[in-house]
Amino acid sequence: MDTATAGKRLEQARDDLERSIAVLRGETPDGSEADTPQDPADAGARLTEADRTQAVLASASSQRTQVLNALGRIEQGTFGTCVDCGALIPEGRLEARPEASRCVSCQSKRDRRH
Ligand SMILES: [Zn+2]
Repeated sequence: MDTATAGKRLEQARDDLERSIAVLRGETPDGSEADTPQDPADAGARLTEADRTQAVLASASSQRTQVLNALGRIEQGTFGTCVDCGALIPEGRLEARPEASRCVSCQSKRDRRH
């Protein structure tokens, strides 16, 4: 995949993520519902829903950061190489995840540390 194609896909992904993030932020309760009568079970359900929204929002934001970083690497001409070891990231991996910043082995080392 050439960087022009990757760039288009990344820009598309960035736009999609920004739309989702805007929608999710709109759904996040701001705490102004404190005067609503609530029984504990209901409050629990709302909290769970808010937590879920927060979790989805956090993951969309971190994905967006990865996409923006990948777009930055295209500009710097380092797109497609591993940020840790400098090896070329396999084509198939970039096809699946153009925002990937590490080769498979560096990514799995990093995932294990978490
Ligand atoms: Zn690597």
